[in-house]
Amino acid sequence: MLQLLDGKALSLQIKEEIANEVRQLTAQGHRPPHLAAVIVGNDGASQTYVANKEKSSHEVGFTSSVYRMPEHTTENELLEVINFLNSDPEVDGFIVQLPLPKHINEQKIINTISPDKDVDGFTPINIGRMVLSEDAFIPATPMGICTLLKRYGIETSGKHCVVIGRSNIVGTPIANLLSRKGFDCTVTICHSRTTNLPEITRQADILIVAIGKPEFVTADMVKEGAVVIDVGIHRGYRIIGDVKHSEVDRLCSWTTPVPGGVGPLTIVSLLENTMKSYKKNLQIK
Ligand code: NAD
Repeated sequence: MLQLLDGKALSLQIKEEIANEVRQLTAQGHRPPHLAAVIVGNDGASQTYVANKEKSSHEVGFTSSVYRMPEHTTENELLEVINFLNSDPEVDGFIVQLPLPKHINEQKIINTISPDKDVDGFTPINIGRMVLSEDAFIPATPMGICTLLKRYGIETSGKHCVVIGRSNIVGTPIANLLSRKGFDCTVTICHSRTTNLPEITRQADILIVAIGKPEFVTADMVKEGAVVIDVGIHRGYRIIGDVKHSEVDRLCSWTTPVPGGVGPLTIVSLLENTMKSYKKNLQIK
């Protein structure tokens, strides 16, 4: 029988846990955690993401600051803001909302973020630490997926996990995380050059879909009883994912709704990473 991995409900629960911890620490005289965000230009989806991050920060008692910069901002102007945030001892973590305008070199910007404040987990240092199973900030979306699997007690050990998508922010890190000790999946990564995709995805006990194509995954691609995690978000007259839930859900043991699945956990992971940085900065165990 189909069961939902309810990201909305779980995110409310974890936010309450964070808010309680913040209340206790501020009552002891500590400053609140501080998460900053930088956004360049007017991309609608990015504005929504940043507004949601700001709202969630306030909900858990964090200080939140947003640096809104115009589309024509130069790379150097953006680097200045990043260096400022890197050196501000009152900022525990910050994110630079992607995508950036075309005239700015995204990787150069990411490489400038201090790994100690990189709560999105996008810098090469954090990705390297993650791959080596060292202490790291894990990228927010894969971390959210891991939280869903863990908190719902989904058995992962020895399971075949197929990930569709190999992006730096979702597909590649989630494939790595689930293959490592703790999750112990056997992982297959599929991408735009994969041949016989349905044949491979039908072998998945756990299917993670991060492809960016609306309702791409159909019933013929899913094994009966699979756990299906839909990372996709497509905004139209209603929000849909990368999975055609109207035909796939009847096959699943567990699935994530869209909206209300992976999305809310992504923001919560950002808050958790900021909390981790904050405690390190204030030397709180
Ligand atoms: P991306 O465009 O960077 O990567 C898509 C991946 O899909 C690529 O690696 C590509 O090789 C693969 N792909 C494309 N066509 C394919 C095909 N026909 N067959 C197999 N593989 C194919 O996307 P992304 O940044 O990883 O995001 C994926 C989706 O997840 C998007 O809808 C995005 O909006 C959404 N997203 C959601 C969250 C969240 O919080 N829920 C966070 C990030 C991204």
